[in-house]
Amino acid sequence: MAVKLIRLFGDPVLTTPALEVTVFDKELRNLVRDLTETMQDAPGAGLAAPQIGVSLRVFTYDVDGEVGHLINPALDLSEDLQDGPEGCLSLPELTYDCIRAMSVIAKGMNMYGEPVTIHGSDLLARAIQHETDHLDGIIFIDRLDDENRKIAMKEIRQTEWFGAPPTVKISPHSLSNGLL
Ligand code: ZN
Repeated sequence: MAVKLIRLFGDPVLTTPALEVTVFDKELRNLVRDLTETMQDAPGAGLAAPQIGVSLRVFTYDVDGEVGHLINPALDLSEDLQDGPEGCLSLPELTYDCIRAMSVIAKGMNMYGEPVTIHGSDLLARAIQHETDHLDGIIFIDRLDDENRKIAMKEIRQTEWFGAPPTVKISPHSLSNGLL
């Protein structure tokens, strides 16, 4: 297991739809462990495989002490919505209010290829939606309205990390929880 470099906004892997997992082998289990370790080191509430440069449909989460992972997720979203601050380990130092479904039923597989269903609400639902978006090449600022997205893009361009070569591990330890 290893803590991996987290890819930052601007890296093309983050805007590329990830591939379905078809082989449930030791390599996949190592990926889940690397994702979990990298997420917990950051620390973050979730991490998707493309964020460590692996374009496969796998994510991990750590919400309210519940740590897990999901492979090839399919989501059933509630009609009830929630609005609140959202952040992303690939966009250090920035949070924006983002509207999400209040609860979600997520079906997929675990790392052994067994079917699993996760029922999430509040932050867990937010995390599952955020990470599944990553697997579709969607970054959460894509979910903001035009005005807020413009503000976000301006603030991103003003960060020290944007456009910098990805040679130094970004350590967002100064940030509180809620990072995905
Ligand atoms: Zn994210």
